[in-house]
Amino acid sequence: MTADAVNERINRRVAVLERLLEEKGVIAAGELDVVIDGFLARAMPLNGARLVARAWVDDGFRSALLEDAGAAAASLGMPVGPAGHGEVDLRAVENTAAVHNVVVCTLCSCYPLRLLGTPPTWYKDAAYRSRVVRDPRGVLAEFGTTIAPDRDVTVWDSTSHVRYLVLPMRPAGTEGLDENGLARLVRRDALIGVTEVPPPS
Ligand code: FE
Repeated sequence: MTADAVNERINRRVAVLERLLEEKGVIAAGELDVVIDGFLARAMPLNGARLVARAWVDDGFRSALLEDAGAAAASLGMPVGPAGHGEVDLRAVENTAAVHNVVVCTLCSCYPLRLLGTPPTWYKDAAYRSRVVRDPRGVLAEFGTTIAPDRDVTVWDSTSHVRYLVLPMRPAGTEGLDENGLARLVRRDALIGVTEVPPPS
């Protein structure tokens, strides 16, 4: 059994446990997500956010990231593949005025763990996995993300060997921010593509 297959088996088991704990009232629905989000917030900026911020300030790096995201991440000292496993093909997909990208794994829960940390529970839910493919605009709206009708939405389906990272658009009002300041604006959900990066408050 490959490391990925083991991971997927563990992920499924954890999802079942989580559901049982919620059904039996041991934890409130979404409680684990709050804990995980808190953990990730403290671990900010995520490696994925650092990649995005570098791409925003450095056009050469942006091209390199879009060309070969794994190599670009490695050039900043970020490993991409799971430990003890073969290479994962990491692809960065760029949001533009013409297209918005969103990532899913319709089969299970493949995710660029080493760049984004633990996937949120909703990413692993059958509801998200099936619905985002059929009705991406509807699902994005539930995340508070409205995509203009003249902008395309592309859904990228991950596999155990191909993982995606969204390169969001740099928000207005960030001209004065340096790379670290920019990285702090980039949240996990924007790297999955269910939200955009908001202007600094
Ligand atoms: Fe998967």
